Amino acid sequence: MAIKVKFYGTRGSTPKAGDDFATFGGDTSTVVLFGAGVPVILDLGTGLSNFAQELDPLSSFGAYVLLSHFHFDHIQGLGFFVPLDQPGAWLEVHGPNLEFDPLRALFTPPYFPVSPYDDFAGELRFVGHEPGSFWLEGSFARITCGVIAHSNLAFGFRIEMGSHSIAYLPDHQQPYGAQGVDKVALALADDVDLLIHDAQYSQDEFESKSTWGHSTFEFAIDFARSANVKRLAMFHHDPSHNDEYLREVQERYGFVNGSGSLKEVFVAKQGKVVEFD
Ligand SMILES: [Zn+2]
Ligand SMILES: [Zn+2]
Repeated sequence: MAIKVKFYGTRGSTPKAGDDFATFGGDTSTVVLFGAGVPVILDLGTGLSNFAQELDPLSSFGAYVLLSHFHFDHIQGLGFFVPLDQPGAWLEVHGPNLEFDPLRALFTPPYFPVSPYDDFAGELRFVGHEPGSFWLEGSFARITCGVIAHSNLAFGFRIEMGSHSIAYLPDHQQPYGAQGVDKVALALADDVDLLIHDAQYSQDEFESKSTWGHSTFEFAIDFARSANVKRLAMFHHDPSHNDEYLREVQERYGFVNGSGSLKEVFVAKQGKVVEFD
């Protein structure tokens, strides 16, 4: 199965705009996997509107969403997702089980003027999961979700489509103090073709933000090597890291044709496409 992975939003925490963010992008976490069936959307950040712009307004829309967690930078795009406001459209969101639906609770007045559940013409469904595996039949994808270290409850995902595998860990707390590397996270990323991983901080930044739920560039690479990953996308860029900064990160840490299992490391750019045959 040929798979295309497209980055529609690569920023973490809060969106950024302006010339200084034009290359790597200012929109928050949204990645879409295109395989043999319906698309699989990874998180509903502000990058979701870039995906919406590429859709044919006349054809009916349906997709699955794997939602890592409920922080604003991962859900903010939902209320503005116009393709869902047409008859026959559907969006099925799979995320951590909280025993209530936080999307329904948030996307309603006074927080938001309309409810995408009740006011959009299409159908929005939320499915809460405990850690484990399930199938997205319409995408021929086997999903494994696990709770990974972050500042609040968050899932990492492993997605297997045909002979290819992708892991998505956008917000992942690097160990600090006496903590060890998260075994659940390592298992999700084990041997994948592409790992999309939190790389928000430099070592210096991590010193003062070591409990904020994120990872350094160095940890992302060490983690990828430990999990025998083939390609690493450094993701969830800090809002203070402009294009000039991220270009330097790319020059310092990025490579292709690496020795060992890790063949490529790149700083994820809004609009970038990775393809697997
Ligand atoms: Zn985030
Ligand atoms: Zn988060």
